[in-house]
Amino acid sequence: MIILIISLSLFIVLMIIIVIVTSSKNGTPINNTKEHRNERHRSFIEYRNEMRGNMGEYRVNAALNPLIFGKVNHRQINNLIILDERNKSHQIDHIEIRKNGIFCIETKNYKGLILGDENQKEWTQCLFRGERHQLINPVKQNKSHIYHLHKILGNKYKINSVIVFVRNNADGLGIPYVINLNQLKRYLDNFNDGTHLSDEEMDTIQRTLLNHAARITKEEHIRNINATKQELENGICPRCGGKLVERNGKYGKFFGCSNYPKCKFIKKL
Ligand SMILES: [Zn+2]
Repeated sequence: MIILIISLSLFIVLMIIIVIVTSSKNGTPINNTKEHRNERHRSFIEYRNEMRGNMGEYRVNAALNPLIFGKVNHRQINNLIILDERNKSHQIDHIEIRKNGIFCIETKNYKGLILGDENQKEWTQCLFRGERHQLINPVKQNKSHIYHLHKILGNKYKINSVIVFVRNNADGLGIPYVINLNQLKRYLDNFNDGTHLSDEEMDTIQRTLLNHAARITKEEHIRNINATKQELENGICPRCGGKLVERNGKYGKFFGCSNYPKCKFIKKL
């Protein structure tokens, strides 16, 4: 309990320092044109979302910390940024390596009621007074992370996807691996698909992944994401750089990569 209080107060002090440092860095001269006001407003929302994201990652860190939640034999990597073969960056919140499996954990700090299924492109966030927002489907987001982790590990190991809702509002979704933060410990402890990793294997996996950590800043990563979005809009496959072509499938029209079957990237219309 005392450790928890100390770490929480330390965290709050740290957040205040971060707020002061970043707000002084963003002290752009005042310009009252409409675009500038929009820009400032947007960057505030982005900034706020980032803070919420950091808070969520911190809470999952704490939940995974054996100091607070009991001893467990594991290897943990937080906030790993990797570059794929096309120099695109991917940021992974947590990788938890245990005897019973490897878990790629995506943290979400969403407010309100969240609706969606595994295959939808976007999920819906319902807030008070009927306010709704579209969110990137984190299941798909994490699938892409796992795809790249598999490549780094030479497709040798199974990597399990876990999405953690920090505000414990995942119940409405009914997806077994989209869980509440208060279920995380039990989920990882009870996970059993027959995997049994030795200490040496856990070390090797951790070392291999850390060796692939990209030395880029969060700003560079965000710039990279925006470039990918732009590519998609221009009809370029974000996975291999191929051209996206319209195709007809069982469930209607979609954009597929022209390098299929080598690249299976799909974008729904
Ligand atoms: Zn492709």
